[in-house]
Amino acid sequence: MDLRNKDSSSEDVLSVVIIGNGPSGICISYLLSGYTPYLSPEGFHPNPVLHRKLAENSHLSLFEQDLEYLCEGVEGRSSNPVAVLFDSLLLPDSDFGLNYTSPLLWRHEPERAIPHLVLGKGPPGGAWHAMEGSMLTLSLANWMELPGLKLKDWMRDKRRSVRNDRATPTEIASYYQHYVSQMGLEGRFACGTTVTSLQRVALGPGRSGWRVEGVQRRADTMMDLPFSVQAENVVLATGTHDIPARLGIEGETLPFVCHSFWELEAAILSGRLGRASEPVLVVGAGLTAADAVLAAHHLNTPVYHAFRRSVSDPALIFNQLPKLLYPEYHKVHQMMSQQQYQPGDAESEPGAQSVPLPGGGDNVARYLGYLSFPKHRVVAFKPGGKCVLEGEEGHQMALCVSMALVLIGSHPDLGFAPEQGRALGLEPGEPISCRRNPIDVNPYTYECVQEPGLYAMGPLVGENFVRFLKGGALAIACDLARKRRSLPDRATAESSAYHLLSHQLSNCSLVCVEGGQGQSVKERLERREMGKVE
Ligand SMILES: Cc1cc2nc3c(=O)[nH]c(=O)nc-3n(C[C@H](O)[C@H](O)[C@H](O)COP(=O)(O)OP(=O)(O)OC[C@H]3O[C@@H](n4cnc5c(N)ncnc54)[C@H](O)[C@@H]3O)c2cc1C
Repeated sequence: MDLRNKDSSSEDVLSVVIIGNGPSGICISYLLSGYTPYLSPEGFHPNPVLHRKLAENSHLSLFEQDLEYLCEGVEGRSSNPVAVLFDSLLLPDSDFGLNYTSPLLWRHEPERAIPHLVLGKGPPGGAWHAMEGSMLTLSLANWMELPGLKLKDWMRDKRRSVRNDRATPTEIASYYQHYVSQMGLEGRFACGTTVTSLQRVALGPGRSGWRVEGVQRRADTMMDLPFSVQAENVVLATGTHDIPARLGIEGETLPFVCHSFWELEAAILSGRLGRASEPVLVVGAGLTAADAVLAAHHLNTPVYHAFRRSVSDPALIFNQLPKLLYPEYHKVHQMMSQQQYQPGDAESEPGAQSVPLPGGGDNVARYLGYLSFPKHRVVAFKPGGKCVLEGEEGHQMALCVSMALVLIGSHPDLGFAPEQGRALGLEPGEPISCRRNPIDVNPYTYECVQEPGLYAMGPLVGENFVRFLKGGALAIACDLARKRRSLPDRATAESSAYHLLSHQLSNCSLVCVEGGQGQSVKERLERREMGKVE
């Protein structure tokens, strides 16, 4: 959706603006577009207590039910009760490998739709467009699907089979894009849009809401055009993959130090890295670091691999994944365990310049050109490709590398929110992070405890798996439906706004802010075309 085509009326206020168009943004958009879940007349849930509770009010949709009541006693692998509930309703008992049909029936009831706009930097699918394309996903493929469209059916239509019940990020990203068009959600999505500011504003007497500002990149001219939109409610669904985590050590800004997988790929593709180059140092022991090790190894580029934990540490992700389902990560774990640096390998210590890598003449080396440094941390990068590593006992060595890839996770970018969102976390004042400091939300509505009318979902509230972030969408949709029921006048206004919205979101107040407050983007462009804008 092109924001510049929207008529502007600064009085108009959208019900909901969703920031982020990954699986979280897509799922909430589906639920706000009138797709409504009921207990199917033939529906059966293997949990008898949950089944009985659902049957008590089978004439009501889930949006009208008491989620807290339904959640009681339902257990699963998330600490968020609604996440466990919705997962159990979409894929009952899937943890046990059982393939029960969902007891839910989805009806499209357009009169329930709540006007909303989904803003996102790239195409619908979020982080899945930025992942290494050929890597198999970590979760079973059906855990990544969204309500109403079976991933396996879609794959079958594309005449592709799902390997080991897993799919590649490219396939998942393509499924999310297809989902948006298949469900008729495209009109709600404004892609190529970056939100730069979110502020609470007064919307009228005793009524407050949000002003969301940002820029939309035009595909034809690659020009960024500013916009501004007002909303009663905002959903933060920006994920946590925007800012790569840094070590925070000396020399981290040197040109040979990189923080994304893509930089490795670019270096390989450009021929800067290869069999004859100095080794690449991969720092980190997560899945992205593992992908980098595999990519470099596959192309015969020598690899040093440094990480803080021991290879047998139960917290290491490789020790949690079933070997049969994840053979490639099992291979990396084997490399990490079997080809460890032994003190004394260095040609001279301290201050050694290179550590011999297992090579062709080495009888025991199974993985040529790879050496791991468990329980080591990087303490500094120095000009000339030098990386200073420190072992557990404090001994240091300097490795000579062609490139250092720091792949130790990422942080959300909430720079557009007041105080970078720091006031919203479980520990106010600290940066938001999926594991350490998620946004503090009501567990049954996902509304921020600190900010009424502001919701958050997905990794921002600690749900890093698609399987469980769908529960956040249900909780938010239920709460917004409840707010709407409690304000019938607002619902009437929204209902007429909905009809306008379905005619290309013409109720949406998108105001050009570039040097001309109050002008619509359309007006501004028309003026520019007529040569009235300098
Ligand atoms: C390597 C890797 C492998 C993974 N494997 C799995 C797996 O197997 N199974 C699984 O369930 N999960 C997996 N995940 C996690 C998965 O990616 C997330 O759970 C999921 O993508 C979160 O969805 P989201 O919509 O909340 O956020 P995202 O997918 O991150 O999407 C958010 C979008 O919002 C955009 N955005 C951010 N800020 C702004 C702004 N200011 N303005 C506009 N747009 C903005 C972002 O650019 C992004 O496109 C993996 C993650 C990684 C990195």
